[in-house]
Amino acid sequence: MSARIIDGNAVAAQVRADCAQRVRRIREQAGRVPGLAVIMVGEDPASTVYVRNKMRACEDVGIVSRRLLYPDTVSEDEVLRRIDILGADPDVDGILVQLPLPKSFDLKRVLGTIPAGKDVDGFHLYNVGGLVIGDTIFPPCTPYGVMRLLEYEGIDVAGRNAVVVGASNIVGKPMALMLMQHEATVAVCHAKTRDLAQFTQLADILVVAAGCPNLITGAMVKEGAVVIDVGINRLADGRLVGDCDFDGVRKRASYLTPVPGGVGPMTVTMLLVNTINSAERALGLVPAGGGAAKPRNESAADGADVTGFGPIAEEVSP
Ligand code: NAP
Repeated sequence: MSARIIDGNAVAAQVRADCAQRVRRIREQAGRVPGLAVIMVGEDPASTVYVRNKMRACEDVGIVSRRLLYPDTVSEDEVLRRIDILGADPDVDGILVQLPLPKSFDLKRVLGTIPAGKDVDGFHLYNVGGLVIGDTIFPPCTPYGVMRLLEYEGIDVAGRNAVVVGASNIVGKPMALMLMQHEATVAVCHAKTRDLAQFTQLADILVVAAGCPNLITGAMVKEGAVVIDVGINRLADGRLVGDCDFDGVRKRASYLTPVPGGVGPMTVTMLLVNTINSAERALGLVPAGGGAAKPRNESAADGADVTGFGPIAEEVSP
């Protein structure tokens, strides 16, 4: 068997075309476009690249994005005050705080300050809790993107054995909850799981998000399984790889996502979807389909700065 390689770029392009259409419709009906504010503390090089990509993706579909960059010496209270201002700004539909934050910050407190109705990353406790009961406002972008890839490929989840390798709050756990919501039987593995292969070999759908190159070999995959590789690892020679031995797994699986070009493009895309959903919600517009990828076979102005300490840089795009 040689797996079908799922083209995340193609699915993302389709969802983004739908996003652009929804933004045009919002502009026609409400006289404004959706707005996203991104708070960055410090200038971590990887975060700078991720934020740039998010802003470029926003611009491509017509969302106005704003980056508020603070020095890593900024106080947590100052950042919280800025989140409050953005929370009250009617032109801001989504607020995200780029992670990681400096170690001195209380992450839970920061994420909990973002109003749940603008928490487009889906990290606020309210949205996490909503995920547990299958009723979240904003599903976290990476697992949401994985669900869209499965939907696009027409892969039925109900009744299948799903195994998630990785149990982080932003990928593994929400992924498991979403698969459960779609009626899969789910097992979650992590670094202390004994005999990982014993679990992975049971999976009809295997989602790997551990951050370990070559963690999953062909022998660990059931013949015909669907394998979604979320991992992103930079090797010493500069190559970007996932968590699976691509060539080995490809020979056993029926579907496989590549790295790069699989889940990655979907993560930013689902941030756009969440921001547009938020704007439609705030404006009382009926969502136009939620940016669903068609199955393959069917083929502004800143709020007043009351604190006296602005960010060191602020950019608005476009
Ligand atoms: P994380 O917070 O470091 O969590 C990693 C998880 O994997 C933890 O639950 C850890 O177990 C588990 N793990 C680590 N080594 C393991 C092993 N040998 N066997 C089984 N489980 C193991 O990472 P994350 O933020 O979830 O990200 C995971 C990977 O996905 C990274 O490579 C990251 O770059 C990538 N990622 C990609 C996207 C995308 O858009 N494609 C988005 C987000 C993340 P413990 O809980 O026991 O420590």
